[in-house]
Amino acid sequence: MSSVPLQQALRHLQTAFGNFFAKRAKYPRYKSRKRSRASAEYTRSAFTWRDGRLTLAKTAGPLDIRWSRPLPQGAEPTTVTVSRDSAGRWFVSLLCEDTVAPAPGTGGAVGLDAGITSLVTLSTGEKIANPRHERRDRARLAKAQRELSRKAQGSANRAKARVKVARIHARIADRRRDFLHKLSTRLVRENQTVVIEDLTVRNLLRNGRLARAVSDAAWTELRSMLEYKCAWYGRELVVVDRWFPSSKLCGACGTVAAGMPLNVREWACGCGAVHDRDVNAARNILAAGLAVSACGDGVRPQRESSRTGRSSVKQEAQRVTAGFPAIRRGRSQPVLHLPTRRSAVSRIFTRATDSTT
Ligand SMILES: [Zn+2]
Repeated sequence: MSSVPLQQALRHLQTAFGNFFAKRAKYPRYKSRKRSRASAEYTRSAFTWRDGRLTLAKTAGPLDIRWSRPLPQGAEPTTVTVSRDSAGRWFVSLLCEDTVAPAPGTGGAVGLDAGITSLVTLSTGEKIANPRHERRDRARLAKAQRELSRKAQGSANRAKARVKVARIHARIADRRRDFLHKLSTRLVRENQTVVIEDLTVRNLLRNGRLARAVSDAAWTELRSMLEYKCAWYGRELVVVDRWFPSSKLCGACGTVAAGMPLNVREWACGCGAVHDRDVNAARNILAAGLAVSACGDGVRPQRESSRTGRSSVKQEAQRVTAGFPAIRRGRSQPVLHLPTRRSAVSRIFTRATDSTT
């Protein structure tokens, strides 16, 4: 076993305590042997990268890697992280410096309304169906969990059953992530400005009836993907205030309807306009976002917030502007002014790295 991952672990611990004493984070916790992702980080001196083959220190030969994608042209990995998830799968990720070419410009702008039946509704009227990955595997997951609960504590069979449950969870998460990546890449490619609503998913999760569907939809994951992809490709992401009455506002005349229960999918305004609930909301979000981005003015809630009386939580429309984020400060590395990203994550199909964890 190489000494480098051990030293790196101490460095990570030091960062954790540094963050704790600076009140940026809670007191560091131990990882779980069963649930956490086990990982070992190798720095430059602890691996060799030659002819596209990766050899870790103290291992006999190069790793047998199934690549997810090739490394960028001329890129040299600076850090290699080997990890194993709770489903027992091995991964290796290589950190490289890479410049992201800004995507060709488009004038498009789109507003997104998040929902359950349609994962998102675009202001163009397009509805993107919610694939509901969790629901598709729910029976399978329930069966595996039932079998796990029948096994004796601490037995080998229990450990095997636990891995089975973890594999089903991993399958759900993988499919969900794949879908969200494709969706967010498409939205960012096609549009210069993307407007979303600031949802508090945590509050929505308190609603027991919706909780499962809300967590399956993974809006937070979609939002964070949109955030970093907009930054990469020079797009603008505008976040509209969460108290903005996007569903109740008539996009044609600007009247705010009194109430709008969730089961109302289509409604007619006094002015004669008939709206699809979600498309109308997405259009309102787009209009509000464009107003923010044009004059830098916050989208103010209309009466809503005074009634709910939560002004402290109320947020002004914030602007996540694209640009070149300064990435990877500290750790004795120079501050880089080009966007970087973790370049390739691939799976290892070998047990050669067993000794590293
Ligand atoms: Zn109207």
